[in-house]
Amino acid sequence: SIEREHDKAMHEEQEKLRIKRQLTNNINHELKTPVAAIQGYLETMTTSKDMTEEERDTFIAKSYAHCQRLTQLLTDVSTITRLEDGSSRIERESVDLHTIVTEIASEVALLGDDKRMRMNIELPQPMMVQGNSTLLVSIFKNLTDNAIAYSGGRDIYIKCLGEENGLYTISFADNGIGIDEEHLQHIFERFYRTDTGRSREQGGTGLGLAIVKHIIEGHGERVSVRSELGVGSTFTFTLKKVEL
Ligand code: ADP
Repeated sequence: SIEREHDKAMHEEQEKLRIKRQLTNNINHELKTPVAAIQGYLETMTTSKDMTEEERDTFIAKSYAHCQRLTQLLTDVSTITRLEDGSSRIERESVDLHTIVTEIASEVALLGDDKRMRMNIELPQPMMVQGNSTLLVSIFKNLTDNAIAYSGGRDIYIKCLGEENGLYTISFADNGIGIDEEHLQHIFERFYRTDTGRSREQGGTGLGLAIVKHIIEGHGERVSVRSELGVGSTFTFTLKKVEL
C-alpha cells in the first residue's frame, strides 16, 4: 500500500540520518565508553577502602574486559586506516587458502562447547590465490568470529563455488538466525551493529565486516551477502587465482 511505501521511505531516510550521525560520533564514543568505565572502576577502588575482596576482583575483571575491548578497537581502527591508505601497498604473494582455512578450523575445534561450530570445508587442495596472507587470514577470522558470536548456528560452510576468468568464487555460510533485510544493507558499514547490546557484549566493535569488505576490495574484488531469517547468512566473494 501507499502508506506502507511511505513508512518505508521515512524509515530509510531516518536510517540514513541515524548512520550519518552515528559515523561522526562513533570513533570518539567507542573509545570513551571503555575508558570511562575503567576510570570509574579505578576511582571506586581507590576511594572505597571497605570493599570486599570479591567486589575488588569483580572490578578488576571488568576493567580488564574493558581494556581488552579498547585494544581490539584500536587494532580494528588501525587496520581500517591502514587499508584506507591505499591498496597499492598491499603486498601480494601466492597463498594457499586451503591451509589458511584449515588452520582457522583447527582453532575453532579447540573452542568450548558453547562456541564451537562444525567447519565444513570444500576447497581445492591446494587453492593458490594472489593476496596478502595476513589480510586473507583476517577475512576468514572475522567471518568465523561473527558466525560464532552472532549466528547461533551449528555449521559453517566454506566452499569454492567455481572459477572463471582467473577468479575463484568463494562462499562462507552459516546456518544460524540470519540477518534482517533492514540491517543487511548496512552490514558492511563501519560501526554498524544489528543489535548493539549483543554485539558489544560479544566484544564486537562493529568494524569486522567493514574490514572484510576493505580487504576484499583492496584485492580488487567484491563481496556480497545474502541472508534468510532462521536459515542463515552467506557471504560470497572472489579472489584471484594463481595461474600455475
Ligand atoms: P563486529 O566487529 O561488532 O562483530 P561486524 O561488522 O563484524 O561487527 O558485524 C556487524 C553486525 O552484523 C554485528 O553486530 C552482528 O549483529 C551482525 N552479524 C555479523 N555476522 C553475522 C552472522 N553470521 N549472523 C548474524 N548476524 C551477524
